[in-house]
Amino acid sequence: MTDFSATRALFHLPDGVIYLDGNSLGPLPKAAAARVARTIEAEWGEMLITGWNKAGWMEMPSRIGNRIGRLIGAEPDTVVIGDTLSIKVYQALASALEMNPTRRVILSDTGNFPSDLYMAEGLCRTLGNGYRLKTVAPEEVEAAIDETVAVTMITEVDYRTGRKHDMGRLTAKAHAKGAIAVWDLAHSAGAIPVDLKGAGADFAVGCSYKYLNSGPGGPAFIYVAPRHAEAARPALSGWLGHEAPFAFDLSYRPGRGIERMRVGTPPVLQMAALEASLDIWDRVEMADIRARSIELTERFIAGVEAACPTLWLASPRNPAERGSQVSFRHPEGYAIMQALIARGVIGDFRAPDILRFGFTPLYIGEAEVDGAVAILAEVMDKALWDRPEYKVRARVT
Ligand SMILES: *Cc1c(COP(=O)(O)O)cnc(C)c1O
Repeated sequence: MTDFSATRALFHLPDGVIYLDGNSLGPLPKAAAARVARTIEAEWGEMLITGWNKAGWMEMPSRIGNRIGRLIGAEPDTVVIGDTLSIKVYQALASALEMNPTRRVILSDTGNFPSDLYMAEGLCRTLGNGYRLKTVAPEEVEAAIDETVAVTMITEVDYRTGRKHDMGRLTAKAHAKGAIAVWDLAHSAGAIPVDLKGAGADFAVGCSYKYLNSGPGGPAFIYVAPRHAEAARPALSGWLGHEAPFAFDLSYRPGRGIERMRVGTPPVLQMAALEASLDIWDRVEMADIRARSIELTERFIAGVEAACPTLWLASPRNPAERGSQVSFRHPEGYAIMQALIARGVIGDFRAPDILRFGFTPLYIGEAEVDGAVAILAEVMDKALWDRPEYKVRARVT
């Protein structure tokens, strides 16, 4: 059993804050500062360039990939980290399209995160030749998977509503129709149990700075199923994905297996922070996280619905159909969220009208849920949100 009071003690959370935005940026693991300082002083400072060998910097992307792999049901040596999620989306899509050369359609849904859609559009434009992105409503995705679809590009958990797709079922449908399944796990990794192997996923990508707590700008990850590992051709064929980077050959030969999905020099300091966070994740079972997350989200929904009749639940009511976040709609959602943040309850706002709250059992418990409900109830009852300063939109919402 995971000891959540022990994991909670391993995070720094500012006094007076109820942090319900770990789905967007995880908080600081207390050990991260010392770990990053050690990497800076003892490794970068003392070893200089020899750190790539002596401190094992070069192996970090695959070593860390394996640690994340355990949390998402990936086979050993099928996950590597680096770059940003947008880049990893592009990489997975480009390889997947090349593996299904007679088809031209990337299928996604209108609940997907816009960056994934933008990357797909950009890739189609570069490829020309009739490639196109098709989007349908989330509930229509399954029916839209037909023989024209080359690749399905689906984000398992909707960033706005928390609605969760059935990965096993959609992957099976994709395969039955001859399509390749690319999954985005941005709001799944560290939030819910994922079984990439069991689902038969072909490619998957995700980020480390949300539920995995690697800090702002932490690197993304990519998974390639073992059956494709030697067939997938990287479109972003950088030198660190080459079979022999230090042979400095003039032409590209893909590296062994998942190593070929590396592109360029990895962010060593950010990876050091991520390793400090993964030390916490090593003590955690995803099934325990899920059970706890459902308790917390159910408690929050019940509390808010009892106290705030003008907020409309935007997330699925059935916990089996949602990830680890709860969203409510209100036309003044932005101002309400600013009023909450001013009172120490940090969630976020997603246009046009969504108040989003993430529940992260590693460091959130009943006391935070009840505290957030009480403050939200007061903000709504007394219309505390109705002040001009809460209506001025910041750059990041
Ligand atoms: C958070 C998120 C992103 C962000 O991509 P970055 O390149 O890391 O900025 C992309 N896609 C999805 C589905 C996300 O949830």
